[in-house]
Amino acid sequence: MKELNFFAGPSILDSSILEEAFKLMGNKHQLSVLEKSHRSKDIIYLFEETEALIKDLMQLDEYHKVLFLHGGASLQYCMVGYNVKTKGKAQFIDTGIWSTKAFQECSKTRASEILATSSEKYNFIPEIDASKTDKNGFLHITSNNTIYGTQYKNFPKSNGVLVADMSSDILSRKLDFNQFGLIYAGFQKNLGTAGGCLTIVDERILDGGMAKVPSMLDYKIHIKNNSMFNTPPIFAVLMCNLSLKWINQNGGLEKVEQNNIEKADLLYKEIDRNDLFYNDIAVKDRSLMNVIFRAKENDIEEKFLMFCEKENIVGLKGHRISGGFRASLYNTLPKSHVKKLIAVLQAFEKSL
Ligand code: PMP
Repeated sequence: MKELNFFAGPSILDSSILEEAFKLMGNKHQLSVLEKSHRSKDIIYLFEETEALIKDLMQLDEYHKVLFLHGGASLQYCMVGYNVKTKGKAQFIDTGIWSTKAFQECSKTRASEILATSSEKYNFIPEIDASKTDKNGFLHITSNNTIYGTQYKNFPKSNGVLVADMSSDILSRKLDFNQFGLIYAGFQKNLGTAGGCLTIVDERILDGGMAKVPSMLDYKIHIKNNSMFNTPPIFAVLMCNLSLKWINQNGGLEKVEQNNIEKADLLYKEIDRNDLFYNDIAVKDRSLMNVIFRAKENDIEEKFLMFCEKENIVGLKGHRISGGFRASLYNTLPKSHVKKLIAVLQAFEKSL
């Protein structure tokens, strides 16, 4: 039987998405999506349809452009630095490893500063003094901290532009996406498979201030070329397309968000109740996508993972830096998997 998949990314895909992908590639009598030129009408249609699905789900205004790029989320760290509001400051809120990396990489392109940090334990989202944000620059946040399990529920106000790394909670809830000057997210969690990055950029924040931006790192060039400046990650865009259709087929963002809240609530309730485990994240900042928990006694960590393996549950080991456990509950993870995990947590408690 297929394992119950709680990996943080690449992560779970609904079986209907996989089946549809197999269908699109498995016809021996015609060229598959993977073999066609990106200049062919079918692939252009795939990109246009995927863009339309995103614009519709996010209710984007006419200034926000949709890009499908290579390089995962990590390449965006320097692209943001090169392109966004280049006359002002690059400011960051440090809520974990990914935001630290975003800051460090951007520092290589221009002067950058950290406005607030929760680095002692990374177990809450810090407040900022909005008057310190630069109206000519940008403020970068990580909306969901995949490793530490915190998530913004309300977004900070900035005098300049707000930039968000949404890699691990993109399209998991209803938001005013137009409040962001730029959003980016690697595909491999809520948007399908690894191999690309969705970037939404308000073209008004690209001031062309840096004289020599390499072409592949220049958002304006990608916008002008409809994400086809070079050969794009076609397979990843196909999987993104199917993941977006899955959201629509499952009641849209509102329903998906409701489901995500219910799944996370069930699991946090059990962790708070269970005598063997704890979660010390500020309750208001707990992530709906990555539920972190730790064993009260270190010596049960290995035992618990082995217990889960026997129950056909995989992907619960926490990130190598933070340790502990992490259950990733992305959009397509069914509530029944959460219920099974809860039953296993309870059975493990009884077994000791
Ligand atoms: N930001 C966040 C919040 C992430 O969770 C990850 C990957 N897990 C990244 C950035 C890096 O993504 P990529 O591997 O696509 O570069």
